[in-house]
Amino acid sequence: MCGIFSTISLDTNVKNLVVEGLKKLEYRGYDSFGISLIQNNKIKNFKSTGEIPSDPSKIEFEASGSIAIGHTRWATHGGVNTANAHPHLSQNQQYAIVHNGIIENYTKLKQELIQEHNYQFHSETDTEVIVAYFQILKENLATKQALQTLCKKLQGRYSFIILDNNTQELILARQGSPLIIGVPKDETSIFIASDVPAFVKYTQNVIYLDDNQGAILKLADQKIQSHYFDLDTLTEIQKRIIKVEINPEETELGEHPHFMIKEIWEQKDSIRKALEQDLSTLKQFVEKFNEAEKIIFIGCGTAHKVAICTQYLFAKLTKKITLHEISSELKHQKNILYSKTIVVAISQSGETAETLEAIELAKKHGCFTTCITNVRESSLDRNCDLSLFIKAGTEKAVASTKATTGQMAIGSLLAFACADRLNEGKFLLSNTGALINDMLNPRYEDKISQLAKELRYAQNMYIIGKGANYPIALESAIKLQEVTYIHAEGFAGGELKHGPLALITKQTPVLVIASNDDCFQEIISNAIEIKSRGGYIIGISPVNNEAFDYWLKVPEAGLDSPIINLIPIQILAYHISVLKDNNPDKPRNLAKSVTVK
Ligand code: GLU
Repeated sequence: MCGIFSTISLDTNVKNLVVEGLKKLEYRGYDSFGISLIQNNKIKNFKSTGEIPSDPSKIEFEASGSIAIGHTRWATHGGVNTANAHPHLSQNQQYAIVHNGIIENYTKLKQELIQEHNYQFHSETDTEVIVAYFQILKENLATKQALQTLCKKLQGRYSFIILDNNTQELILARQGSPLIIGVPKDETSIFIASDVPAFVKYTQNVIYLDDNQGAILKLADQKIQSHYFDLDTLTEIQKRIIKVEINPEETELGEHPHFMIKEIWEQKDSIRKALEQDLSTLKQFVEKFNEAEKIIFIGCGTAHKVAICTQYLFAKLTKKITLHEISSELKHQKNILYSKTIVVAISQSGETAETLEAIELAKKHGCFTTCITNVRESSLDRNCDLSLFIKAGTEKAVASTKATTGQMAIGSLLAFACADRLNEGKFLLSNTGALINDMLNPRYEDKISQLAKELRYAQNMYIIGKGANYPIALESAIKLQEVTYIHAEGFAGGELKHGPLALITKQTPVLVIASNDDCFQEIISNAIEIKSRGGYIIGISPVNNEAFDYWLKVPEAGLDSPIINLIPIQILAYHISVLKDNNPDKPRNLAKSVTVK
């Protein structure tokens, strides 16, 4: 959440670079945006609510300079308005800040600054407190010491960049939210962003700032100088430059109208990519699973539904004790975390704040920690003992599609590997990948878009599944909620009679996920119970049934059916969203990469 983009360059017109970078980060927050730039030894500031124009000249901000910070916001503290948009200037106008995260003790710090320093605030944000404190500290301290004292005061997870007009420096600090530095080889420019796609067009060489580290960057003698240090000791750190493997083109829309549909279609290939796993890492996972007393799969939102699905597969194929939990709920079950426990964290971005916290907690309790993520060198990858990567490529749409099915594919591979049936699992997945490749064709999409026309006016939609398709019902509801804003809920088929059946009225659309497995007859009975009460049944199944008012055919994929079953629902959610004139890539109130709690 929140996109930070900043640069220093020999070029004196970095405004366009910042706008372009922010546009690429808009998926992380799209409430408002802003830029600060040093021009003639003064900070010039621009802030606006709403969308960032694709053409930078459309922004009424006449400013040029070679050092700037920019921000695209997902509001946590303070409404969506220009005053609360970042960057925030200090009272003496010498410092400007962009920030990602939450300062938990900001109310106390704000009171202190008002009472003891008569400081005047101009926004409701927690962010302004950071720059205010920095101004006060700089009255008596050098930059590094001021930054150290400031970070000791701040509680919460955050990253920020302060633009210092006096020294013409960028001052960086990280505690829990990502900050990545792009370092082109010629040393004539440098980029700092919350995510690599923002600058990957210019360089693939990056430095990851770690928690509790600071940096000072500036232009001197026609070169960029950077200085990294530990925030506890202020000792210098030599950072490693890593080459990231992101093709700049994969971060572009190409011929597609939206990232969501682009990413749905990329599932033609993403299962095959997920299958390309390093065998020795898989083996290490299995060894650890075999030694463990229990395995807990965790995640937030969609990733948590993948966790449930994976847990079902493990329960089907192995005798291991497996559990699933929402990342933010794990802390309420501390007693079950001990050394013979393995935690498997699932997160697309690898930056999900609650999942990172759950892993920190699990580590503290002696658990072995592992993850399934899409982003190499993400905080989760670096904090876990072992990682598997889904290799789905950059996922930009807020509503996850290809990363979800990629995570499920890895979950399936792990379950088969743990059952000592890896080859069978690989064969099944490779077959599933081929089925998805065939299934994703314009005719199939068109058929679903026709159904979307029927469902676009629905007030409520329900989805039912059983076994490993129960979490698919839950995930389908999330997909529909995210982009269509229709009230959608998923249930285990057996739960209907225990409450939800009361919600069914004439023509209420109910998606029934009916794989050709040992749950088939029972879920069909549930469908008939709904139909008898007037519900409109849309069957998602490899076989037609008289209980279905509408049949959405899916290929037969055995134990990988849950992966396949999600795809028509993703397409359906997308088309309803477009028909309703929503922006499927930027659902209201949401943003990608949930780095705040
Ligand atoms: N807390 C800051 C604000 O509300 C930053 C929010 C974020 O990182 O998403 O402006």
